[in-house]
Amino acid sequence: MRIRYASAPGDGCGNEDLASSGADWAFVLDGATAPPDVDSGCRHGVRWFVATLAASLAAELALPCHRPLPDVLAHALERTRAAHGGTCDLANPDSPSSTVAMVRHSGPALEYLVLADSAVLLPGPGGTVTPVTDDRLDHLPGGRPYTRALVRSARNSPDGFWVAGSLPEAAHQAVTGTARPPGLRFGLLTDGCTRLVKHYGHTWHQLWQHLEKRGPESLIARVRDNERTYGAERGKRHDDATALVGAFAPVSG
Ligand SMILES: [Zn+2]
Repeated sequence: MRIRYASAPGDGCGNEDLASSGADWAFVLDGATAPPDVDSGCRHGVRWFVATLAASLAAELALPCHRPLPDVLAHALERTRAAHGGTCDLANPDSPSSTVAMVRHSGPALEYLVLADSAVLLPGPGGTVTPVTDDRLDHLPGGRPYTRALVRSARNSPDGFWVAGSLPEAAHQAVTGTARPPGLRFGLLTDGCTRLVKHYGHTWHQLWQHLEKRGPESLIARVRDNERTYGAERGKRHDDATALVGAFAPVSG
């Protein structure tokens, strides 16, 4: 296998994205930044949550049995819940949470899981690419701009959207599937990079070509160029941005 990734902080204090990979898996996480005046009920914070979820996912993915990816994520969320140590209010709707975009090599195929607004890219024959996205956050009642109260009430609810937080059941609401992209190649992106498509008019095909041919660092530089030139449509001018590109086909030599 071969994996390359890059990650850059946005306007906030520190990068709440995280990328990780092993022999037959890779994922990116994007921690949800809580507004500074909101009490999340957690004394640890978003970066701790993302780091702990990443370590828990890596541990679950290292187990010899290949459980379905939603079960892997659910068990990782249970480990992360336990790691709070009983000092935090995990029923708080603003408890730290994260998006997940994950792939695992499984026999001749590649399994994927997407929860909230990170994305998996899967190339097809003839230079095509299929994005796997979870767009439920884009379709809350009333449309954007969302109020903070709406987002809070919609988080991890059947009529709203799902994220990886204190509720392990959310894992079973993820977008999942199996694919056989040529060379078992794939890309993983947080929304700091998918804004090239969502806000700046690039196609998924252009994004994939840039990622695979010029690499993750160059893709993030492209994002920053667009942000400086055109400004942010909403939210932060520069968001945490993470791009990972990889292939699970055997590396010769
Ligand atoms: Zn905590």
